[in-house]
Amino acid sequence: MIGIFGGTFDPIHYGHLRSALELNELFELNHVRLIPCAQPVHRDLPKTTAIQRLNMLQLATQNQTDFIVDDRELQRTAGSYTFDTLTTLHRDYPEKTLLLFIGSDAFNEFTTWFKWRELFDLAHVVVTTRPNSALNPLNDYLKNRLTNDKESLKNERAGRLFFQQITQLEISATEIRGMIVAQQNPRFLLPDAVIDYITQHQLYQC
Ligand code: ATP
Repeated sequence: MIGIFGGTFDPIHYGHLRSALELNELFELNHVRLIPCAQPVHRDLPKTTAIQRLNMLQLATQNQTDFIVDDRELQRTAGSYTFDTLTTLHRDYPEKTLLLFIGSDAFNEFTTWFKWRELFDLAHVVVTTRPNSALNPLNDYLKNRLTNDKESLKNERAGRLFFQQITQLEISATEIRGMIVAQQNPRFLLPDAVIDYITQHQLYQC
């Protein structure tokens, strides 16, 4: 099974890295693919270029061989649609089951995503939650997809919705960008190699 962890990663931080590691272990994955989006469809433009975000991802994961940085969304000129990404992954790994990881905040918007129902033809959807996270009620389509049985994710190729509680560290990229503007030290919220890159390239200064 392959885990798909997408995001803006502006910049990548330990909240992302810790959850990717836990998910990798919990689901005994072959690897996790970290996929930065080119132009997020659902939010403001990133503060950095796509290449800078990609470089930071590579620096953050350089010693973690089961994390693969995947730049396929940066190859496309149009907006980043998860449906398109999963379609190409499904074609590239026809023998593998794909697990699409979505944070509970993003999942609350899920039914506004392009071809959200069709995503279940290509992957299982795993929503990562924290204790007491506020989730919108599920519609009937999603209720029918829901399973509490982790084994069914291995036994079926796609089509299930699963909620997985993980350690979510209280770190956000927004907070890190704000600290840099305020000239506070973000150390221990993200890898030193990423901080060095931010400093060298004078990112997030204003
Ligand atoms: P921003 O503050 O700019 O919105 P972010 O820190 O939330 O950024 P994203 O790149 O938007 O990071 O997030 C990518 C994915 O990582 C999303 O699924 C999001 O739910 C998840 N995520 C973000 N922060 C954390 C965290 N601290 N712990 C676990 N998952 C996280």
